[in-house]
Amino acid sequence: MDNCVFCKIVNKEIPSYKIYEDDLVLAFLDINPVVSGHVLVIPKKHFESIFETEEEYLKRIVIVARRISIKMKEVLGVEGINLYQANGSVAGQTVFHFHLHVLPRRAGDSLDFVKWMGKIAKKLEKEEFEEMRDKLAIN
Ligand code: AMP
Ligand code: ZN
Repeated sequence: MDNCVFCKIVNKEIPSYKIYEDDLVLAFLDINPVVSGHVLVIPKKHFESIFETEEEYLKRIVIVARRISIKMKEVLGVEGINLYQANGSVAGQTVFHFHLHVLPRRAGDSLDFVKWMGKIAKKLEKEEFEEMRDKLAIN
């Protein structure tokens, strides 16, 4: 797709620090790492976000993210991994070509996902859980 920075990386019009490539996906270092070793896994075909991305690509992206996670544990000696993925600007997406962040985590690093989620977690009544479950249930 024209004017998509990740399509340009796929097409080698702009450089990247590539760590993996196959027929469906590409993985490379994030240019502005939020932690050391921050990697992005993307489909080689342009999809804007999770709403459009074909399941064949999603499957491969998750499999590759797992392999990268295992490698990170081995060679970076990290204690954990977060997978992060944003869809839509309201959710913090800034590049509108689907991508999955693979974030190696170390004790005391600057990311505070878990603390942040814990802080805003809301207590719900049984009826509220049931209403939401019924709204979101997929056949
Ligand atoms: P998001 O905010 O979830 O859409 O993430 C977009 C990510 O793409 C950010 O973490 C950017 O640092 C990263 N990024 C943008 N341009 C490039 C690039 N040319 N090479 C590598 N990573 C990039
Ligand atoms: Zn693209």
